Amino acid sequence: MTTVFIISAPSGSGKSTLVDRLLKADARLVFSISHTTRERRGAEADGQNYHFISREEFERRLSADEFLESAQVFGNYYGTHRRYLDQARRTGHDLVLDIDVQGERQLKEKIPDAVSIFVLAPSRVILESRLRARSEGSDQVIERRLREAAEEIRNYHRYDYVLVNQDVEDSVRQLRAIVEAERIRRIRMEEKIRPILSSFGMDLDKR
Ligand code: 5GP
Repeated sequence: MTTVFIISAPSGSGKSTLVDRLLKADARLVFSISHTTRERRGAEADGQNYHFISREEFERRLSADEFLESAQVFGNYYGTHRRYLDQARRTGHDLVLDIDVQGERQLKEKIPDAVSIFVLAPSRVILESRLRARSEGSDQVIERRLREAAEEIRNYHRYDYVLVNQDVEDSVRQLRAIVEAERIRRIRMEEKIRPILSSFGMDLDKR
């Protein structure tokens, strides 16, 4: 059974590092590579960080209902292609999505048992200094990012888990703990429980 893990965070919260570390630490997890119409940045590679496509292509795929969810973020389209979930289900992997709050809302409607995690920087001052350290452009751009962060943070209460990213090692440990615990939720254990119950002459549905 595939568990879907949604991770959202304002930019500058350190989410990408955490997601990379989580994926490296756990071979049962696969990452959903989103499609986007935004420009490629720095060392990003097509097909690795994102599938970079034109607006026309995005709109064509959108009307062909290829996306599980999609949203416009900072004026660009972003979307999760259905094939990542289909593939994960076929190969028995769990799926990790790095999507925004709009995407989380849509996915939770479609997959109610998806697990959502919101990553927060410890304070506005720390978020601002992380954005500056990444040299995310002019003061104006940083101000805009901070305003957008505040908007995203307003939605934290929709999420199942909130992780305050103070220390990367602690946060990675916490993320792995969430993944491990969610895997043994009763609803996800039924395939394993069935033969055990059957060895006692019981079945899953008629306890
Ligand atoms: P960035 O352009 O900085 O990589 O990402 C901007 C925002 O878009 C981030 O909050 C990221 O989580 C979100 N995002 C990335 N891919 C998707 C997607 O497929 N769907 C949605 N809804 N948001 C996405």
